[in-house]
Amino acid sequence: MKCKKCGGKASVNMRQHRMALCKEHFIEWIPEQTERFIKKYNMFTREEKVLVAVSGGKDSLALWDILTRLGYKADGLYLGLGIDGGVNYSDESHRLTAEFAEKNGLTLHTVNIEKEYGYSIPVLSDISYRGHGKPCSVCGLAKRHEMNRIARDLGYDVLATGHNLDDEAAVLFGNTLQWSSDYLLRQRPVLPEKDGLARKVKPLCRFYEREMTAYSIARGIEYIYDECPFADGATQVFYKETLNQLENTRPGIKLTFYLRFLDARQSGNLFIEKDAVQAHIHPCAKCGQPTSAPDLCSFCRMIEKANTTTG
Ligand code: SF4
Ligand code: ZN
Repeated sequence: MKCKKCGGKASVNMRQHRMALCKEHFIEWIPEQTERFIKKYNMFTREEKVLVAVSGGKDSLALWDILTRLGYKADGLYLGLGIDGGVNYSDESHRLTAEFAEKNGLTLHTVNIEKEYGYSIPVLSDISYRGHGKPCSVCGLAKRHEMNRIARDLGYDVLATGHNLDDEAAVLFGNTLQWSSDYLLRQRPVLPEKDGLARKVKPLCRFYEREMTAYSIARGIEYIYDECPFADGATQVFYKETLNQLENTRPGIKLTFYLRFLDARQSGNLFIEKDAVQAHIHPCAKCGQPTSAPDLCSFCRMIEKANTTTG
């Protein structure tokens, strides 16, 4: 297989684009494409301050690397979740994130949920009984709450996450299977700033997961290989595997599935749009973040409940 740009030996073959590239051209192509997506979806400009949510995994570190190479003002945010799971997942992911920041002279903000609120994610999950024994729903709620709070408190214009195409296609697949219209409506590469919620963007949403792995390795980025110990057996993982099987026989199907969905949204052809009811949003009485719940937001209610339970 030859590199499409230079004719040299290709190291990455992208069947969905019918294109193979050598290492050098691949690590140039990824930022070029990212820049194209940032512009196409009006994500942010070079004047705006971007906060990248970094977990120590390949996608978020690759995103930080790409934005920095493209000359954007991008700082990092690491959320300490207090997840151990035998591999000291949180410690190790923080170490790798901090090392990346230091090596590249970048600013990293670290917020430890346990220090901030008194409970790690697994403890909070046990106390609150949310998510039937799996901490993922508590974790997701806490991450959304904290990312928004910090972006707002520190004056960032936009919050960027490293979701790739495999993540987006799996979420879309799940939401379509269940016809979750609320979630389908919210799934886009850019969620504009609204009612006290920071603008959220996913600049890597059109890259396959394997492209992000190849990019991180080619760039020599040290990332945490272990998945979070709670990721195992998650429904999303099952959807990803199912989509991978489809992709093996029909290269490009994942990308088409996602892009056609975005096109349908864009052209207003997503019939659910007409039926969606807008919830009434107002500030949480405790933290001031937007919520549709009557008094406190779900996160503050969860912390209050934990405080009452533990006395
Ligand atoms: Fe949080 Fe781990 Fe679940 Fe991801 S898999 S949501 S990091 S607990
Ligand atoms: Zn609140």
